[in-house]
Amino acid sequence: MTSPAPFPAGKRIAYHGRMLPASMFAMTADPIGRRLLPAHKPVPQAGDHDLVVRVLACGVCRTDLHIIDGDLPPRRPGLVPGHEVVGQVVGLGAKATRFAIGQRVGIPWLGGACGCCAFCATDRENLCDQPVFTGYDRDGGFAEYAAADERYCFTLPERYDDTHAAPLLCAGLIGFRAWHLAGAAMPRLGLYGFGAAAHIICQIAAAHGQEVFAFTRAGDQAGQDFARSLGAAWAGGSNEAAPALLDAALIFAPAGELVPTALAATRKGGTVVCVGIHMSTIPSFDYRLLWGERVLKSVANLTRADGDAFFSLVGELALQTHVQTFALQDANAAVQALRAGKVNGAAVLLP
Ligand SMILES: [Zn+2]
Ligand SMILES: [Zn+2]
Repeated sequence: MTSPAPFPAGKRIAYHGRMLPASMFAMTADPIGRRLLPAHKPVPQAGDHDLVVRVLACGVCRTDLHIIDGDLPPRRPGLVPGHEVVGQVVGLGAKATRFAIGQRVGIPWLGGACGCCAFCATDRENLCDQPVFTGYDRDGGFAEYAAADERYCFTLPERYDDTHAAPLLCAGLIGFRAWHLAGAAMPRLGLYGFGAAAHIICQIAAAHGQEVFAFTRAGDQAGQDFARSLGAAWAGGSNEAAPALLDAALIFAPAGELVPTALAATRKGGTVVCVGIHMSTIPSFDYRLLWGERVLKSVANLTRADGDAFFSLVGELALQTHVQTFALQDANAAVQALRAGKVNGAAVLLP
């Protein structure tokens, strides 16, 4: 790893009379090298509705991998990924009134929406035509400081410390939206890919009395044990048949071949939801797998209403989020571990 330029001593910027450093350490996306590069960047300034946070913890999501790997081309060079940001407010824009200096906030993937397109006008800001995504359109949380539009930030339940709250901000939230789209009351739920999102949704589904069937990579005994420890009624490889037909299935793994597999495991009238932002090509499959009023859909992004409902629920449930922490400067090790499927639960960076 190349060392970034030394921190410029003595330079400070003022926020509400508080002095912040003028520059910060960050890890930036380098899709050509499929890695993160260390850098020093200016501490972000707050726009009118923004808050600036000192990052306390930031989760690493599979979407970050897609950005780092160029599956989703970064919007500009030197982009700072990271959209599961837990931070402490250290600066406020002129019109930012929701949070106070010192308060803990969560910054999610949806960092802004236009408010006037056909989707925003019908309570579907997750599909906004001109969205702003954290760690993609604007710099995210793989850094010491981050700025965000406070109107899209969340108050986090106090029962989760910074590290354990981080994965709730995307893995939990997007899993929750998918779980709802699949019909949250379905008795038998299949989860394909048992990573950060599935390990949270498994607990929520089990707490709601659903029977959870967890499908991991073939032979991933540790992953299957992990799933059972979190309430899964059954766990096996995605090449294995579940002991019963599923009412709904959520596909978290970005593997297109799981779509026909999940449809074949789902009963008539059931729903299969693809949760990732990117998936390998779905192979062609026989129409009979879809017939019988099965529904195949994707989930895209989140709305603020999803966040409010989700954080209110997880504030009551006392979920056990499992995290593996890495120092911010070791972010490439976190990315590598996630790529290799070696993280039990979620990877979290600590600045
Ligand atoms: Zn819009
Ligand atoms: Zn994410």
